[in-house]
Amino acid sequence: MKLIDVTVPLDTQLPTYPNNTPFSLEPIQRIASGGHSNVSTLHMSAHTGTHVDAPRHFFDEGPGTESLPLELLVGRTRVIEISSRTGIAAEDLDGFDLSEDIRVLIKTRNSQLWASPVFHPDYVGVTESGAKHLVEHGIKVVGVDYLSVEVFKNPGAPAHHALLGAGTIVIEGLDLRDVDPGIYEMFCLPLRVVGSDGAPARVVLRQS
Ligand SMILES: [Zn+2]
Repeated sequence: MKLIDVTVPLDTQLPTYPNNTPFSLEPIQRIASGGHSNVSTLHMSAHTGTHVDAPRHFFDEGPGTESLPLELLVGRTRVIEISSRTGIAAEDLDGFDLSEDIRVLIKTRNSQLWASPVFHPDYVGVTESGAKHLVEHGIKVVGVDYLSVEVFKNPGAPAHHALLGAGTIVIEGLDLRDVDPGIYEMFCLPLRVVGSDGAPARVVLRQS
């Protein structure tokens, strides 16, 4: 069985979305310093690295990460590759037959940005028309390969509103460098954080 881990490692080399808490692992107790065990505290944003956005991210009354349906986050998934260097619009998605799909991961040049510890605001996001296209074609889970599905600082965050408002779950921060376009089985298991707008997730793909 071949599993592809598409989760980015949580370490200090991980780029952080502007104004979010950077990841750090703080030693609270260390054997080397006389402690009887090693114990650490993790500091991070709910949107650190590979993570899932809950509707609560943009809707105060929306469900938090604890109530995301796992049936949607596990199962047959299509990976598509898009070469757009700006935003992923409806016309970029038009050529893909998504009629059999409810889960789509979009591989772009973004995946190469994980090699850099610095946040790159020129990553490729999904435009409003792209997000609406996905919703209209019955997509329930959309995954992207950088820290936001949104084009950087796009006023009104139309992609988040279109997707989360329709109940489509967003997975952000995937590393798809080693993934070829095609059909996989995905296992995306976000931490069960009650009331949270986002939660880090381990995401793996199994070639089907
Ligand atoms: Zn997020």
